[in-house]
Amino acid sequence: MLQVKNISFRYKKQAVLNDISFNVKAGEHLSIIGESGSGKSTLLKLLYGTYDLDKGQIFWKDSEISGPKRNLIIGPEFMKYVAQEFDLMPFISVSENIGAFLSNFYPEEKQARISELLDVVELKPLAKTKVKELSGGQKQRVALARAIAKQPEILLLDEPFSHIDNFKKRSLRRSLFKYLKEKNITCIVATHDKDDVLSYSDTMIVLHDAKIIANDTPEYLYNNPGNKLIASFFGEYNNIKPRGIIYAHQLKLTNKSDLKALVKQSYYKGHYYLIETDLNGETVFFENDTALKNGEHVFLNFIK
Ligand code: ADP
Ligand code: MG
Repeated sequence: MLQVKNISFRYKKQAVLNDISFNVKAGEHLSIIGESGSGKSTLLKLLYGTYDLDKGQIFWKDSEISGPKRNLIIGPEFMKYVAQEFDLMPFISVSENIGAFLSNFYPEEKQARISELLDVVELKPLAKTKVKELSGGQKQRVALARAIAKQPEILLLDEPFSHIDNFKKRSLRRSLFKYLKEKNITCIVATHDKDDVLSYSDTMIVLHDAKIIANDTPEYLYNNPGNKLIASFFGEYNNIKPRGIIYAHQLKLTNKSDLKALVKQSYYKGHYYLIETDLNGETVFFENDTALKNGEHVFLNFIK
């Protein structure tokens, strides 16, 4: 188990993280979410031992993870970290980058391993291409493959699919998280993308104002967001008194109700339209099968 006990950290005056505690069981996947600047990357760096903590301790099983004051080399053996800015060797090929830290003692096994990793990140066709010729998203995939090459016990991923386009993102996400679960690799992901979290994380923590404001399963927090920050992470939401926070898909058109709204705009979303309305001076969103006329009055009802 990874144990984070009462850690605090500041770069300058302002605390970035203040008395943070949480645990992650071996093999589990945890997401860290929060607005930009909330300290997600800093937290991952602290887990990796990049900086010395102001307070608190971090343990993996029985060993304490400590910062540069006590370690010549940053990053414990059992952990790999893929930073937001990945650093690869540009003048050698994709395969050579992925295999860079693998032993040359059994060349055939090494090649088989590289081939397996190329499959996980869907880069077979580019195996022999030099990294400097790759796009940002392709480089990100090489960085991911290199990080799992030696099967770490814990993998730290900072916005792992941020440079990867939608054509590839979904299948890559499926294939990577499936691989990590199969190999029982504990994974901690900092992300702003709900799709990284909902289907793939066992738990998620929400950072805000240097604190953890929620720590639960994605399913629980989706159904009980409790505040606007968490609701906005999952989707378009409304705050309708006295009902509170409800998602746009929880409101539907009806013939007559107490909620009379004025249609402002319809946005095409594929299998539905997101309708922006004005309800007593507040903007309220709901989902509908068809577009509606601007200026039309409609009645809304809550579903479930
Ligand atoms: P996130 O990853 O959630 O966007 P970060 O952990 O990168 O947030 O940053 C948290 C806060 O710490 C921000 O206010 C940021 O400006 C500050 N910060 C990040 N890195 C440094 C640094 N190397 N030196 C000083 N301040 C930093
Ligand atoms: Mg960050």
